[in-house]
Amino acid sequence: MKKIVITGAAGFIGSRLARQLIPEQCLVIGIDNLQSGLMANMKDLLDHPRFKFICADVSSNSIMLREELDRADEIYHLASPASPKFYQSMPFDTIAVNTLGTKNMLELARTTGAKLLYSSTSEAYGDPLVHPQDEQYSGNVNTWGPRACYDESKRLGEVFCYEYFTRFGVAVKVARIFNTYSAGLRSDDGRILSNFISQALTGLEITVYGNGMQTRSFCYLDDTVAGLKLMMEKDAANGEIINIGNPKEYTVLEVARLVKQLTGSASPIVFLPLPKDDPKRRRPSIDKAKRLLGWQPQIELEEGIERMIKDYRQRLAEKGKL
Ligand code: UDP
Repeated sequence: MKKIVITGAAGFIGSRLARQLIPEQCLVIGIDNLQSGLMANMKDLLDHPRFKFICADVSSNSIMLREELDRADEIYHLASPASPKFYQSMPFDTIAVNTLGTKNMLELARTTGAKLLYSSTSEAYGDPLVHPQDEQYSGNVNTWGPRACYDESKRLGEVFCYEYFTRFGVAVKVARIFNTYSAGLRSDDGRILSNFISQALTGLEITVYGNGMQTRSFCYLDDTVAGLKLMMEKDAANGEIINIGNPKEYTVLEVARLVKQLTGSASPIVFLPLPKDDPKRRRPSIDKAKRLLGWQPQIELEEGIERMIKDYRQRLAEKGKL
């Protein structure tokens, strides 16, 4: 039976991936330190005979002594806070997991012969000066600001991957994951869709930062997970950096209006100060993903937001907040 290690298994992407891999007759070893992941994300997995949960920090060397990780076939290294709200509240842990944690998982891959997928980020491009961003673009990143702990540590994680690929021949794949959303995203996540939908459904002001003209491209989680699985599967992705995101671009204000329209909310849209270093434009080129993986996203933003609204409505109703 294939043994798959997922770091960040209690997270948004990791838990969804585990849920898909278990029925494919894989043994999934999920690791999480629960700093930003939630046990609730794994509640249907914990009793499954092909799922084992380890509550641990992958940045710590002691993780290397866990015998459950012996003879791993595949490692998805997804552990890291991803929302600015979370990574800015724990900068040193963020730096550690993306650098020391990545090195530990690469070392595990080297000693077991496992393939490794590293979850990098569109933040590796910083506040990009090239548009759309393809994988050749080396980015415009600030080391001296509130986003640096995430952006720069993710970039250093990529460097570790490069060294393990070129020196030791580890089958490393680097996914630069762009903004991802879906039903199931924690309601206190702090990112745009979680905030806007919660605000619209509860009648609070919809908080647009800046003038709302900055752009993002939003990929539904199911599409993202499909892309990550293909990267793991395909040898063509070995030693490659590949953007995984949806190339349709929206301004933040367009997203606010769309959420307001789809929820039928009377919430007013208000404008708050733009956080420092907030990237102005972001949109992936996915030509490489199409060419190497035959992958492209299927779920349109409107459909994805509808699904998320349904989920948030249900959760708010269960808590008696609607
Ligand atoms: N944003 C906003 N209001 C919010 C949350 C986010 O206007 O309540 C904006 C934020 O300033 C950024 C974009 O939405 O321009 C995406 O932010 P998010 O935190 O979701 O992810 P990022 O891409 O910045 O990491």
